[in-house]
Amino acid sequence: MSRRLFTSRDGGDLKIIAHREALRVLLSLEDIHFMRQTHSDVVLEVVEGGEDFECDALVTTSKGVGLAALAADCMPITFESPGVVGVAHVGRVGLIKEIAPKTVSKMRELGATEIKATIGPSICARCYEVSFEMYREIIAEIPSTATSDQSHCLDLQSGVTWQLNNLGVSVTNLGICTLEEAGYFSYRGGDLLERQAGIISL
Ligand SMILES: [Zn+2]
Repeated sequence: MSRRLFTSRDGGDLKIIAHREALRVLLSLEDIHFMRQTHSDVVLEVVEGGEDFECDALVTTSKGVGLAALAADCMPITFESPGVVGVAHVGRVGLIKEIAPKTVSKMRELGATEIKATIGPSICARCYEVSFEMYREIIAEIPSTATSDQSHCLDLQSGVTWQLNNLGVSVTNLGICTLEEAGYFSYRGGDLLERQAGIISL
């Protein structure tokens, strides 16, 4: 049985999200692994502890080990299956680099079946406006990110849902927009340093 949690601006049930150690204790985990996220397509398996990993997705088969993705507009995505869990940080760049499908592949190498993904608080299709040129470029590659030429906003949540559904992964989108909802950190909304965490463990 895996456990999943997404924090919010006030910490939700936690109130103490700034403190990793407090979060670890509260969740009764041996360890929580964070990432030095670089919008890469690198997926790493956590076997034992250490410094933050330089990657944008983590997977593990170890019980009691938390995996955390930080985001404030990008998508923190958790992946659950019996015996294997994963987490990914997915923004526009990570979507194009297929970090989410690569997380699924890595989980399947480790024996995962029936993977369920959950898209945490992230910027929505109404709010994620990019230049018209960038919009045309991205929707040419991933048509499900399209909204309209008039708004030239990208729907990253639909884009990653399409990628994951293609792999037979069921996706739940919490439908929380970080820019529109006051309880969440948003980079575009002016939160340049603060982040939500999406955490998963077996
Ligand atoms: Zn929105």
